Order: sequence, then structure tokens, then C-alpha cells
Amino acid sequence: MKIQPLEVPLGPERDSAWETALAQLDEAAELMGLAPGVHEILRTPKRALIVSVPFRMDDGSTRVYEGTRVHHNVTRGPAKGGLRFHPMVGLDETKALAMWMTWKCAVVDIPFGGAKGGVAVDPKNHSRAELERMTRRYASEILPFIGPERDIPAPDMNTDEEIMAWIMDTYSQNQGYSVPGVVTGKPVSIGGSKGRGGATSRGVMYMLFATLKRRGLGIEEVSVAIQGHGKVGGFLAQLLHDAGCRVVAISDVEGGVYKERGLDPEAINRHKREAGSIVGYPGADPITNEELLEVDCDCLIPAAIESVITVKNADRIRARVVCEAANGPVTFEADRILQERGIFVVPDILVNAGGVTVSYFEWVQDIQAYFWTEDEVNDRLRLIMEKAFDEVYELALAKDLTMRQAAHWIGVGRVAEAHLTRGLFP
Ligand code: NAD
Repeated sequence: MKIQPLEVPLGPERDSAWETALAQLDEAAELMGLAPGVHEILRTPKRALIVSVPFRMDDGSTRVYEGTRVHHNVTRGPAKGGLRFHPMVGLDETKALAMWMTWKCAVVDIPFGGAKGGVAVDPKNHSRAELERMTRRYASEILPFIGPERDIPAPDMNTDEEIMAWIMDTYSQNQGYSVPGVVTGKPVSIGGSKGRGGATSRGVMYMLFATLKRRGLGIEEVSVAIQGHGKVGGFLAQLLHDAGCRVVAISDVEGGVYKERGLDPEAINRHKREAGSIVGYPGADPITNEELLEVDCDCLIPAAIESVITVKNADRIRARVVCEAANGPVTFEADRILQERGIFVVPDILVNAGGVTVSYFEWVQDIQAYFWTEDEVNDRLRLIMEKAFDEVYELALAKDLTMRQAAHWIGVGRVAEAHLTRGLFP
């Protein structure tokens, strides 16, 4: 596996998610000798939609936000990807996230392309009723873009199963009949899949354990730090704690806590429910989000936002393994520093693919109107992810690549093969 001195000096840091995504694709294309025409096609999203989202506030005034929906690639199947509500989300970030979705679906070999959507809103500034009106208007604006055969949104940062239910209802009202397969990550009562809520976290756990096994480390020997205490990071902390890992640090956007002997995720959840943040949790030391990334631990799991490990802090990361639960948490240049320092990075497009894998199961169940048990979902998820891990690991060994290069090689390779098989239209 490639842990070598850098051959090319580091250039100025490309720290936007889109620049990182492009640099990763270009590197994979060069390593695998990708046909230039296909490489060029894959560098640009297939289509991108920008919409205006006007909606009524509770006080009767009107507010307008910008929304986007990007389809990076649909060659292997319908576009698939989350919907993010965040004040800073823009077209470039959405393009990057859509591109990563294309590779992610291909790495775990499910028949989807890549998409992503966003609305530049801070949900904290709105009532639930305002968010519902805003979501329904956004869904109406992107209606021609989505559908079970076209593009299937799912939850991402600051979006949840209730928001998916509003989109499913808005779409279905327009069709005149129920269309559960238009979104995934929706409540089980309207066609959601059992096990979807925890699927991304469960997949991260499978990938962490597969890594530990290959590196000869026992689950109960390792300490873990997790950045982000949302849908992914919060449940992951609980899963890892229950499996016997020592979760020494965890944070949310406000800040974090550290305890060398290990935190109790259940007590942290209780504190967060009462206080609104994990900050102020008694019995542990307060730390900042920057400090969390640099704590002394075996495994660091960024599970919040992109570009948090950069050239500015890559030298100070002390973990032996970085397992990317968030999308794009390490910039392209920072990745090379981690690699040079011998830190084993397991990439996002493999690590967090559990969510889209169970989204695929949900879509299959909706189309067949035949639903599985939670054990069936979890067992099939584990099989798919462990197989993908082994394929990436073996390729990395065989070709002397990093895990990220190997994952991109496989993901990009499968999409390229589909392009070449279908041929260029017209
Ligand atoms: P979420 O909104 O449920 O939680 C995000 C967490 O990150 C919260 O605890 C928030 O307080 C924290 N956070 C936000 N900004 C931060 C900052 N600047 N610094 C530190 N912490 C910050 O989102 P989520 O669904 O848990 O997604 C987290 C990451 O995982 C994202 O990168 C997302 O794209 C990725 N992801 C999510 C899924 C999924 O199924 N939800 C699937 C694949 C990948």
C-alpha cells in the first residue's frame, strides 16, 4: 500500500470541495489510463438546476432562498443523492457532492448515478411550518428533475425523514397517486425501509472494523474521536461504544468534549436533548472542533462537513486511522500529507456508502411493494460493504495505491465502462 515520500511538491491548497473532487478524479484518471474523452465527460455534471424558492413566513412576509439540484452522472441508473439545508451550500459544493455520489454508488456497485441538492437556508432560523412550506416549494420547483426513474433525493445535513415525507407528498399530489420511490430515507409508515435511519453509521462501523482487522487491531483496544453528532456521528458513537470501542471525543457545531477513559454516548444524548448541544456535558473536558481533530486517539472519524483537515492541521493529526464518514473532510493536499505521515485514510466514497446502499434497498422495496425485515437489511448491507472494502483493499495492495486512489479507480472505472459500453450519443 502506498506510503511513500511525495514525488511532487505541494502546490497551493485546493480547499473547495469541487477542487478536491476534480483533483481526485484527475489523479485516478492518470493512474488508470482513462480514455481522455470519458475523462472529459466525467469532469462536468450532466445537468444542474438552480431554482428560486419563495415561501411564506409565519408572520405573513415572504422569504426567498436559492436552491440547487445537480445530476453528475446517470449512465448506470437514476441519479441518487441527498438534500442539504445549510446557509453556505452553493452550486460548487453541490457539484462536488454529486460527483462523489457517482463514484460511491459505483464502488458499492449499485445501479445509480450521482446527484445532490441544496437550499442555502439556516433551518435554525425557521419554524417547522416555515420549513415545510419552503421544502414543498423547493420540491415543486425541482419536480421535472426528480422521480423514481430519474433522481431520488434522500436526507443529508439538516434534512430528515419528515422532510422526505413532505417531498414524497408534494410529488405524489402532482402525479395524482402515491409515489413512494421518489425519495428514500422517508418514514417506514409511507414506504421507508427498516434500518435506513442508522444505515450510514452502521456502514461506517463495518468499514472501521474491516480496517482494524486488516491492520491487526482489536475492536476493544482502540480509541475513537468523532467530529459531528448528527444523524451519522450521533448513532455511530452509540454503535461503537456498544461494540466495545472507547469513544474519547465527540463534538457538534458548537464544540466538543473529551474524556480519555471514554465517554458515555447515552448520557451525552440525554444532555443534548436538554441543553440543545453537547457543549457543557459534565464529567468530560471541553474542547473545540479544531482540538477534536488533533486529539491523541487511534481512529479519527470526521462526520460533520467537508474540508476540515487541510494543510494547516494535517501535520498535527495524531490518529493512526482516519475513517471519513463525512463527505470530503480531507482536502487533496492534506490527504498527501496524511499519506506521507503513514496515516491510513479510508475514503468517504467507501466509508459512508451504507446510507445510499440501504436507500437502494428502500427504492427496490418501494418498486416491488414488498418489504424486508431489519435483519435482512442489515445483513445485505454488511455483505455489500465488506465486499466493496475487500475489492478496494486488494486493488490498493496489488497496484500500490492509497485506499482513496483504489476506491476512485474502481468507482470511476465502472462508470467509464458503462459509458464506453453504451457509446456516445448521437
Ligand atoms: P446532520 O445535519 O444530521 O449532522 C451534522 C453534524 O455536524 C451536527 O452534529 C452538526 O452540529 C455538526 N456540524 C455542522 N457544522 C459543523 C462544523 N462547522 N464543525 C463541526 N461540526 C459541525 O448531518 P449528517 O446526515 O449526520 O451528515 C454528516 C456528514 O455525513 C455530511 O458530510 C454528510 O454529507 C455525510 N453523509 C451523510 C449521510 C446520511 O445518511 N445522513 C450519508 C452519507 C454521508
